[in-house]
Amino acid sequence: MSGRLAGEAILITGGGSGLGRAVVERFLAEGARVGVLERSPDKLARLRDDFGAEVVAVQGDVRSLDDNRRAVAATVSRFGKLDGFVGNAALWDHGAGLLATDGDRLADGFDELFAVNVKGYLLGAKAAAAELVKSQGSMIFTLSNAAFYPAGGGPLYTASKHAAVGLIRQLAYELAPKVRVNGVAPCGMASDLRGPDALGQRDLTIMDSRSPEAIRSILPLQFFPEPADFTGPFVMLASRADNRTLSGVLINADAGLAIRGIRHVAGGLDL
Ligand code: NAD
Repeated sequence: MSGRLAGEAILITGGGSGLGRAVVERFLAEGARVGVLERSPDKLARLRDDFGAEVVAVQGDVRSLDDNRRAVAATVSRFGKLDGFVGNAALWDHGAGLLATDGDRLADGFDELFAVNVKGYLLGAKAAAAELVKSQGSMIFTLSNAAFYPAGGGPLYTASKHAAVGLIRQLAYELAPKVRVNGVAPCGMASDLRGPDALGQRDLTIMDSRSPEAIRSILPLQFFPEPADFTGPFVMLASRADNRTLSGVLINADAGLAIRGIRHVAGGLDL
């Protein structure tokens, strides 16, 4: 098997669609074997149909420590080890604002969204840590432009992605020198990203509230990215050959947003 991840065994959460599914495909193309912890039975069935024994597809919820442990155990049992863990499953909040959102819904939305976006990352890290210490492997967490700027969501999503930054820094500190811990922060893309039940957003996907043109127009690089466009930094961070030195690093894979933040540029550019 050749590729930059040849022989590596890597577990990813939320690998059933969108960015997670693109990372699964790219990791396989780079020679890795992949475990997926995913909530949706339909998406898991598609992974099994498409990739057979190359992917260990585990049904479960990232909010459960037991489910995270089952996914780690299944991946290690199939491939004999674990070299990488990618925390990726998350919910969005469709920009639900502080003033516009009823207080009780906001409180319940916080509990649901933080349980997936923050507790899910923490429990995945906990479940994977011992195996990664053993293999001297790597953790990668999916962030967002909302980990750096407002307006990539409402207060719930933005705060959850900022919290994930703190988790990355703390784990990079605690797990050195054995495990490298880093983050990748994409900008908007077409995916199945949904919101909390508590906000009535279970069936609402990101493309119901953001058009490709709205996303393209705020990006300095001025194109609408596909999930596959973000997979390069994941490969680089997971690779033992290409990443011996990066830990506690956050890669802004956001088509240049840092140049001017998320300010809307309608009429501001003539390209
Ligand atoms: P997606 O919904 O297509 O993928 C997320 C996957 O996680 C889904 O397959 C979903 O079934 C699964 N999932 C959700 N909750 C789960 C749970 N509790 N337990 C197990 N699995 C669960 O969305 P995506 O856009 O590919 O999101 C992937 C990551 O990318 C997230 O961290 C998200 O915050 C980030 N991100 C997305 C965008 C965007 O515009 N789509 C932008 C920046 C960052």
